[in-house]
Parts: sequence; C-alpha cells; structure tokens
Amino acid sequence: MFDNLTDRLEQSFKMLKGQGMITEINVAETLKDIRRALLDADVNFKIAKQFTDDVKEKALGQQVLTAVKPGQLMVKIVKDELTQLMGGETAEIELTGSPSVILMAGLQGSGKTTFSGKLANMLKRKKGRHPLLVAGDVYRPAAIDQLKVVGEQIDVPVYTEDGNKDPVKIAKAAIKEAKTKGHDVVIIDTAGRLAIDEQMMKEISSIKNAVEPDEILFVVDAMTGQDAVNTAKEFNDTLDFDGVVLTKLDGDTRGGAALSIRSVVEKPIKFVGTGEKMDAVDVFHPTRMADRILGMGDVVSLVEKAQEQFDEGEARKLQKKLAKNTFNFDDFLKQINQIKKMGDLKDVVSMIPGMGKAMKNMDLDDDAFKHIEAIIHSMTPEERENPAVINGSRRKRIANGSGTNIQEVNRLLKQFAETRKMMKAVSQGKNVQRMMGGMK
Ligand code: GDP
Repeated sequence: MFDNLTDRLEQSFKMLKGQGMITEINVAETLKDIRRALLDADVNFKIAKQFTDDVKEKALGQQVLTAVKPGQLMVKIVKDELTQLMGGETAEIELTGSPSVILMAGLQGSGKTTFSGKLANMLKRKKGRHPLLVAGDVYRPAAIDQLKVVGEQIDVPVYTEDGNKDPVKIAKAAIKEAKTKGHDVVIIDTAGRLAIDEQMMKEISSIKNAVEPDEILFVVDAMTGQDAVNTAKEFNDTLDFDGVVLTKLDGDTRGGAALSIRSVVEKPIKFVGTGEKMDAVDVFHPTRMADRILGMGDVVSLVEKAQEQFDEGEARKLQKKLAKNTFNFDDFLKQINQIKKMGDLKDVVSMIPGMGKAMKNMDLDDDAFKHIEAIIHSMTPEERENPAVINGSRRKRIANGSGTNIQEVNRLLKQFAETRKMMKAVSQGKNVQRMMGGMK
C-alpha cells in the first residue's frame, strides 16, 4: 500500500539530510518532489498544491525556532499535514440508536455486501452486539444469496423477503423485526449500479428518509483513484453521508483516494477493507495511515492485532518455555497458526517498520508457511520436542515425508535454532534494546 509514495517521499527527504537549515531554496526541490509523488499517487492536483503550500509555510516558519535536523523536521511536518489531510482524529460510527440503523451506499462492485458482513462480524465479535443484516438489493437474486452466504459465514442472521421488490418496505420491516428479536444493530445493504444513475439515487434517498439511519456509510473501491473521489462527491451531494469506507486497499492502489476524499467531501474515512475475508477490515486511523505512507510502519496496529489474537495464558506458558529454552517445534507450529490468524500476511508485514518496502515484491501468502508446516508435521513427537536428535538420515526421511528437500529441512532447522537463541535472550531481557534498534 502506498509503496510508491513512500519511496518518493523518502527520496526527497534524503536531499535534505545533512543540511543545516531549511531555506526557501533548499526546500523548493523537496516540495516539488513531494508534489510529484502525490500526483503520481493519484492525489487531486488542487489538493497536492495546497498540501505542499501548507508544508512549505510550516517548514519555513519553524526553522528559526527549532534546532532539529531539517530532514527530521520535514518528515514531522509532512506527517502532521498528511494526518490532517486524512481527517486528523479517528472517526467512530454512531451506535446509540435502538436499534442503530446503518445504511450502506455505493456503486455495484465497490464492496458493500462484503463490508456489511465485515462490519456485522466486527460489531458482534468485538463489541458484543447482535446485528441483523438486511438484503436491500432486490434486483439481483445473486446479491441476496451473496449476503446470505456472508451471514452464514459469520453466523449473523440475514433479513430477506422473497419476491418483495420494494427496498423501503423491506428496510422498515427489518427494523421492526430487529426490535422484536432483540437485534441492536441493523445493517442495510443496498443495490448499486455500475455508474451513478438517477433512479439508484432516488431509491437510496427514499430508504434514507423512511428509516432515518443513525449512520450512512459510503463504500468505495480505493483502486478507482480519482473516480472514487468524484463518486464520493455525487453520493454526498444526494445523501449527505456520515463516513467513507475505502475497500480493496490491499490491492495495487496508489492511495490517492485515501488522501483526497476527506478534503473533497469533508467526511471522514471510517474503515478500510484490506481483503476478501471477513476479518480483513480495519478502523481507519489517520495518524497511523500517515506513518504507514511515510514508511514508518504501523506498529500500533500490529500490536493491537497481535493482542487480539494472542491468548494470554498461552503467552505466559510460552514465556516460561522460552526462559527455560524448552521452546520446541510444537510451539513453533502454534506460533505460525497465530500469525496466520492475524490476517493477510502481506498486510501484517507491511505494518512492520521498514518491512513493507523490503517485502513488497515477495509473493507472501499463507502458502509461505505450507512447507514449514509440512516439514514439522513429518517429524516424530520426539523430534519436535528435541530437535537435536535430527541427524542426517532423519533429515532425509523428513524431507521425503513432507515432499520437500534436504536443503529446506536444513534451513528450517537452522532458522529454528537461531529463533530459539534469540527468543531466549529476549525472554531474559538481554539485548532487547539492541535488537529493537536493529529492527528499525
Ligand atoms: P457490492 O456489489 O458493492 O456489494 O460489492 P461486493 O461486496 O460484492 O464486492 C465486490 C468484489 O470485491 C467481491 O469479489 C469481493 O470479494 C471483493 N472485495 C470486497 N472488499 C474487498 C477488499 O477489501 N479487498 C479485496 N481484495 N477485495 C474485496
């Protein structure tokens, strides 16, 4: 995500490194580069110009007052401005109604149905809510089936009315049903068209007027770049929505939409979709996103993701094992499973400072672990417990059993030994500072 922009900004800051003061002259090239990087990332021209003007003003104003290196100062200024551009504060959704009604709007294929499921899943699992999904796309039977499949996956009921072609009536009836059945959130998925059309706008407006939603979320595919911004504007003119959901940020997007939408429609981005799976969704945090754009990694999100998945009891057990150096291949397998649960591997890696760029060309997915898992599964319990017994002939057997080769087995054994050594040191508190320093 945003790899291109990150690279470009880094390049432009390099020119400033080592210079004593920010002056109109030495900042000019950097600003030009920043503007070019923004335009290349598909940021709207006017916004890019305004952005660099603001950065310049702040940079020149501050040089007299501070003594930090110009490069560092520029990174800070750009980061703050990026955060502002994306809305500054994290924006929550309104969930106080009983039930709270959330209406989805957007073009067909933008990811409304998928996001409706993701949101229901998130509210159910993380907030203990009892959502009801409503199939409001009455024109495409496939859309109703799709929502039913999503509902089954996350174990959330879906309200449908066979043969009823009036989405307003369906939405009203669904809310009534939610009240009688104790659902505290109603998420209404609506019909989209491939392009904006008057009838679609009319229909969604009448749903809005009939159900008075607590929250209207406009869902848009981030990969459509400037089109996303234009569509957002048109939907907002009609609906005056409350927030934006940017989907498909896992794809090869240049990120311009994330940077422009907020300034153009003056509505916050509230969520981002990062994959097709039901847990591939994040609350949008402007500060963290700015860090990510600048290649500073998103350590806070990474830690949060880890905390969600890691079982504290397990973690304590692991800590003990590490300290005693009895961490074995069974524990290693458990660790792999936990990492896999954290979500899309590429996404997880991109949050680690410095890693996003290093790994951007690697083909990273859950398959990356397949060989490792196969090798460990081909070990006997004794071998997993005590890898020291794995001699030459055992290595050959394990390679055959797992459908890999001796080199791969050797590599894993070596990596394992190193990991064990490193973890032991970490668990004893040695060199932690140094190791963390090395990660940056
Ligand atoms: P709708 O027509 O607006 O309801 O869109 P869908 O929810 O059917 O999504 C259209 C396609 O985009 C489907 O194939 C989804 O799996 C896919 N999709 C939705 N959100 C994301 C996302 O965040 N990342 C990726 N990679 N695909 C997504």
